[in-house]
Amino acid sequence: MTTALAALALAATSTFTVHATPAQAAACNGYVGLTFDDGPSGNTPALLGALQRHGLRATMFNEGRYAAAYPAQVKAQLAAGMWVGNHSYTHPHLTQLGQSQIDSEISRTQQAIAAAGGGTPKLFRPPYGETSSTVKAVEAKYGLTEILWNVDSQDWNGASTDAIVQAAGRLTNGQIILMHDWAANSLAAIPRIAQGLTARGLCAGTISPQTGRAVAP
Ligand SMILES: [Zn+2]
Repeated sequence: MTTALAALALAATSTFTVHATPAQAAACNGYVGLTFDDGPSGNTPALLGALQRHGLRATMFNEGRYAAAYPAQVKAQLAAGMWVGNHSYTHPHLTQLGQSQIDSEISRTQQAIAAAGGGTPKLFRPPYGETSSTVKAVEAKYGLTEILWNVDSQDWNGASTDAIVQAAGRLTNGQIILMHDWAANSLAAIPRIAQGLTARGLCAGTISPQTGRAVAP
């Protein structure tokens, strides 16, 4: 009798385990693109640590001047499983510049990121999301796909951690959210962003240069 009960209890435990394991290793029903602009910086190590601890990968739109100043952090971004894009050299309003200045902003950043070991970017995000036919022509010259965003976290505008978590909660399959390397509230939001995505069956993906959408890595 005791043996039979023990066997039943064991069977029940096994059944529970079989159900629990797939639920924890949730399948990805879709992908979203997490992006962090304006780095790398002294904040980058903490950001990379938080993303890694929560199993998230993101695209870092680096400024060329900072890639040149912090080449070790560009390498650290790659080593942490992140992807690196071009966000201009000095973060100007590109639409107010002539074609040769735009070209310089973009080409120097391609070189700085490559020199730092970040590879040659295929994605470009214009500062402030400001673009024009001239900006697009220079992007095309360097084989860059322009990436804006679907959801603005407003972290640059003082959004609270709660508001940033809620913004990430609006992402649907293929969409991209704007955040920043320097924003403390976005760093603080990472654990809950990860939790929210998992709960919705979404995973952090890479951004396809072909479609400009988030896809499986
Ligand atoms: Zn920026």
